[in-house]
Amino acid sequence: MDSRVHSKDVKHAVYQKLQERGVGIEEIARIVMEMQIAYNPLLTLAACVESVHAVLNKRELQHAILIGIELDSLAERGLLSEPIQSIVSSDEGLFGCDETLALGSVFGYGSIAVTTFGYLDKRKSGIIRKLDTKAGSHVHTFLDDLVAGIAAAASGRLAHQQRDREEGTPTSAPGADSASME
Ligand code: MG
Repeated sequence: MDSRVHSKDVKHAVYQKLQERGVGIEEIARIVMEMQIAYNPLLTLAACVESVHAVLNKRELQHAILIGIELDSLAERGLLSEPIQSIVSSDEGLFGCDETLALGSVFGYGSIAVTTFGYLDKRKSGIIRKLDTKAGSHVHTFLDDLVAGIAAAASGRLAHQQRDREEGTPTSAPGADSASME
């Protein structure tokens, strides 16, 4: 018997979890816009939304998002064991697994995605700052970094697409030979 979870169920779970945790696709797209508008003044929010949907289609990101949100949720309900319960729920300053998980998921989108992630991690634009600011009983230790990862991947994708469009050539985006990053 095939015990694999169907890809469409995984994708559905990603969208559902993001919504449950208060993250809108358009809010992520606004960060993408902020990152890329300097390089493409004609960029539209619709193109950024499309790019966010495109990167959310990738397993590498989907799995990172589901694992990170799961750990946030468990910590929020006090269901992790110590000492990791305290470390995750307090978003301990030296805990770096949240950044590492999100960063690892964007490697496939190349150096622009990686450097954009680092920038967003420091700068914390828009909803990333909202999530990072500990409000009430919510735990968003992983989610803020995951949102930065999604925005960074979508930014890297747009940057490569723009060059390809300008040159009228087939895509030479990172990973494009496997069609995995289109
Ligand atoms: Mg974090």
